[in-house]
Amino acid sequence: MASKVRLFVDHPLGEGQLVPLTREQANYLFAVMRLPVGTVLSLINSRDGEWDAEIAEGNKRGGVLACQAQTKPLQMPPDLWLLFAPIKKARTDFIVEKAAEMGAAKIMPVLTEFTNSDRVRQDKLQAHALEATEQCGGTYVPEVSEVQKLDSVLRDWPEGRQLMFCDEARVGERAGLSGSAGPWAILIGPEGGFSEAERIRLAALPCSTVVSLGPRILRADTAAVAALTMWQMALGDWG
Ligand code: SAM
Repeated sequence: MASKVRLFVDHPLGEGQLVPLTREQANYLFAVMRLPVGTVLSLINSRDGEWDAEIAEGNKRGGVLACQAQTKPLQMPPDLWLLFAPIKKARTDFIVEKAAEMGAAKIMPVLTEFTNSDRVRQDKLQAHALEATEQCGGTYVPEVSEVQKLDSVLRDWPEGRQLMFCDEARVGERAGLSGSAGPWAILIGPEGGFSEAERIRLAALPCSTVVSLGPRILRADTAAVAALTMWQMALGDWG
């Protein structure tokens, strides 16, 4: 039995709700996947949970799905942001995809002093987060924000949000994660790491917990996955 196609739709989902397809979605379902009328798909929209919906009509230019029943309630991820300095394109794509799968609620590319790739296509990264959510069974697609300077993110830092500052200079130390549940953010630096000035400023923030990710220096994409795992096990929805 082929696994059911899961599709994000920007449309309300509910009993008997008819959902029009975009041209792109119709092309995917009917030209690429060649699904016949009557096929049942899984729909998500980041608000109403997951719904079974049947293809009522369709052709390469458009179509309509008819919602049948809810199969999963909305499962919000923890209130966790992932801040990361963009690196090479493929690896940045990887970070966004893993953050969506691993339960980040918001993904924020930030420019630090040593960031060496500031060309970030927010729309492409948002599409990666959407696809990862469709594939991993999630019901909520994390927002990927436009790339911002770390300085301005810190300046507008929300009251009560704690920061897990992954500092490569703490490599080998046992600086684990401690703190209370609630809104958090993880910060991962670029290939070049953090500058001394950034390190001093970040460690001094009252919201900051400085963390080591073990005895070896991890690549930024590896570090993002490791930090997300640490946080989820200690404070998130995996423990
Ligand atoms: N250029 C730096 C160096 O060689 O020391 C490495 C930076 S590392 C590739 C990218 C980011 O991953 C770091 O800024 C940090 O956020 C995180 N990271 C990697 N290894 C880490 C570790 N052992 N402890 C804490 N953070 C780590």
